[in-house]
Amino acid sequence: MLSDNHGRKINYLRLAVTDRCNLRCFYCMPEEGLQWLARKELMTYEEMLQICSLLVKMGIEKIRITGGEPFVRKDIMRFLTALGQLTGVKELTITTNGVLTAPYVPELKKIGVSSVNLSLDTLDAGRFFAITGRDEFANVMLTLDELLKHDMEVKINAVVMDGKNIEDIIPLVELTRELPVSVRFIEEMPFNGDNHLYGGLQWDYLRILEEISSKYPGVKKIGDPLHSTSYNYQIPGHKGSIGIIAAFSRTFCGTCNRIRITPTGELKTCLYDDGVLNIKDLIRQEISEDNLNKTLLNAISHRAKDGWEAERLRVQHKGVHESMATIGG
Ligand code: SAM
Ligand code: SF4
Repeated sequence: MLSDNHGRKINYLRLAVTDRCNLRCFYCMPEEGLQWLARKELMTYEEMLQICSLLVKMGIEKIRITGGEPFVRKDIMRFLTALGQLTGVKELTITTNGVLTAPYVPELKKIGVSSVNLSLDTLDAGRFFAITGRDEFANVMLTLDELLKHDMEVKINAVVMDGKNIEDIIPLVELTRELPVSVRFIEEMPFNGDNHLYGGLQWDYLRILEEISSKYPGVKKIGDPLHSTSYNYQIPGHKGSIGIIAAFSRTFCGTCNRIRITPTGELKTCLYDDGVLNIKDLIRQEISEDNLNKTLLNAISHRAKDGWEAERLRVQHKGVHESMATIGG
């Protein structure tokens, strides 16, 4: 078992396979996109498999593939298939914006992807365009249909943004009436790339819950799975459930079981740190597996207590200016 210096079990890896994306969600990156990473800076699939294989031996049981948008990286299914075959991976999951995902759903199910997080901030095509800068709402809804048709576990991620999609909170909750999905409302974080500023958190988890309770006074608290980042609720009689993720308020750090690896191989032991070591560089320097194991254990045994401490300890740039597309969410 892998555990950190605060006694927290670490068994979950979030791996971002690319920084590139076919949407421009304004809370994630500027309209002109990011300065995309050069191919040689990205980890190759072979390097990613090597590191996943080692981490699984060390105690990682769940791997989430994210990005950028995973499905814009060439040959992603080749990589996912190989990951699905890695001994010791108990759960393989993906976070996607759903633009290109629909045709892959049957194959994803076949290779053992157990659950998909689909990002969908609005149920209105016009607001979708205003938020993402692209006219792709229909394709995302097609992916949602396909996932449900193939009985995949679906979580819908909706970032809650003042002046952008507050009118979508209730319609998104309504989705859970007939659909067996979990709709998770996420506090907006400052990870929107360098070029524009974060307006501060307007909708924290308490305000989101208040909005939901005002329409559904019977909203019921349900159990939160171990290591859950969301506070979970259900409207009595609804097939699905809802969750609220206090991503900015950081109420979940005490049970955090996850590490992240960025597309360039930077290990983040907290969402709010600025990377603690570069695994790709070590692999390219042909570090032995034994030494890499020791280096990773050392990093995990120096984890910040929580996201506030990690933010304070950032060395490269004080304050958070990264894009979520290079972190993976
Ligand atoms: N492109 C994929 C997608 O959108 O699902 C995967 C990567 S995206 C960076 C992962 C998650 O991060 C998405 O659910 C997205 O909504 C969320 N996200 C991005 N920027 C965010 C921000 N500034 N605050 C809160 N969540 C954010
Ligand atoms: Fe792309 Fe996902 Fe970022 Fe939106 S949140 S711009 S879909 S990486």
